[in-house]
Amino acid sequence: MQPYKDTADVTHYINGERMRGQSERTQRIFNPATGDSPRRLLLGEQADVDAAVSSAKAAFPKWSNTPPIRRARVMLKFLELMNQHRDELAAIITSEHGKVFSDAQGEVARGIDVIEFACGIPQLLKGDFTEQVSTGMDNWTIRQPLGVVAGITPFNFPCMVPCWMFPVALAAGNTFILKPSERDPSASLFMARLLKEAGLPDGVFNVVQGDKVVVDALLEHPDVKAISFVGSTPIASYIYETGARLGKRVQALGGAKNHMVVMPDADLDQAVDALIGAGYGSAGERCMAISVAVLVGDVADKILPRLAERARKLVVKDGMEPDAEMGPIVTRQALERIEGYIATGIEEGATLVVDGRGLKVPGREGGFFTGGTLFDHVTPDMRIYKEEIFGPVLACVRVKDFGEAVDLINRHEFGNGVACYTRDGSIAREFGRRIEVGMVGINVPIPVPMAWHGFGGWKRSLFGDMHVYGEEGVRFYTKQKSIMQRWPESIEKGAEFAMPTAK
Ligand code: NAD
Repeated sequence: MQPYKDTADVTHYINGERMRGQSERTQRIFNPATGDSPRRLLLGEQADVDAAVSSAKAAFPKWSNTPPIRRARVMLKFLELMNQHRDELAAIITSEHGKVFSDAQGEVARGIDVIEFACGIPQLLKGDFTEQVSTGMDNWTIRQPLGVVAGITPFNFPCMVPCWMFPVALAAGNTFILKPSERDPSASLFMARLLKEAGLPDGVFNVVQGDKVVVDALLEHPDVKAISFVGSTPIASYIYETGARLGKRVQALGGAKNHMVVMPDADLDQAVDALIGAGYGSAGERCMAISVAVLVGDVADKILPRLAERARKLVVKDGMEPDAEMGPIVTRQALERIEGYIATGIEEGATLVVDGRGLKVPGREGGFFTGGTLFDHVTPDMRIYKEEIFGPVLACVRVKDFGEAVDLINRHEFGNGVACYTRDGSIAREFGRRIEVGMVGINVPIPVPMAWHGFGGWKRSLFGDMHVYGEEGVRFYTKQKSIMQRWPESIEKGAEFAMPTAK
């Protein structure tokens, strides 16, 4: 696969056209593997949000009245185009995010899963019907779209996370405004082009690029009915509170600190593979990455030397190199933050087993690289345990037994994903029942639910009560209406003053 190269400015996409709008502020977009900055991003203003919302609002009546099966056919065509262009999209992702190409392909595949799910929208929108709730009277419920809805997305999945939102929202009959991450915004425009090619009417899907200015304009716009957000916890909490205060429906997914428990009876080879892949894959920049290994009983002494050996041997390179296992960090600032946390861990008294700092990749000296880092003897009071580092840093915590492992995890402020490696069915069952985390893997290190199950964490990893995609996604993007109906032949004469009951 050739590296993706484009030097044009990254624009907005409003009413079916790329446009510069009113934006005068710009920000550079980097290729994290080289440190080069071939492109600029236009940062939107209030006027750009106003233009996108009015285009989406104007498109809503026709799109929401289009029969669901015809909306599904547009999604089917979009699905076909995404499949045709999946490698181009993956190359764009690698060029701006840095993740290795095969991982970017996997991200696109998981985004495509949700498009496939959205193609089934006629079945998902089917209402309930009760005949004869009272003599001569029927009652049914339908689900109708909300109107203009918006999605605000993080840098770490520039294709998959938007796909958690817009295919379901559009198929349900809404019109959509996407505000992608300013660090890797190009995937959004690529998908906008494919949606147009699939026959989506202009104005139904729009992209406004930018930062807090755009986010706040979306939050405050009275015509935006719902906001889906995925990103860090402080911003998720801000979006949830502000959106709710302004009367919007909000689902806001936040940060994570995902633990993986290794029980003494686990297959330790499999546990080591899982910790290395889930801890260092995508340079730890996944909300479902494993950042804490909880090693029970004598597991630590058995697996730490193996983890250390594997962490030292990680192949860290430009993500377009076929043998790369881990690419660079998304930005220089993020790299500095991660290396700062490693220094903090040493000061706090954790044992630094493998130090990934200062890695130089030959031929890519300007890239934002760090190697895999491994800490042992991490304790719950340390910042490197409590806070989300969002980098390739794996912290090992030693506990004496299963109960201590569960208590440790349940005390953490985040509850996104968790895993337990064991061969014992009753331990697995107890773990699933007792753990206060939204997505649980038993011998599965990254248990991202499939498209029809819905994704979401607990505690400070999700604000709001509905998960993204799956049936909860459909519920989020629609409102229920109940209709009761009878005909004149079954209406008795006279006014009724008592509360109506079934007759
Ligand atoms: P981020 O919170 O910095 O940014 C997310 C979005 O919010 C971006 O579009 C950004 O432009 C916008 N934003 C940033 N600062 C803002 C502000 N002050 N006001 C309004 N909007 C603002 O997150 P990120 O660094 O892009 O992504 C990494 C984070 O996302 C991690 O915390 C990760 O755990 C989390 N994440 C969570 C999930 C999940 O499903 N729970 C999935 C992916 C990523």
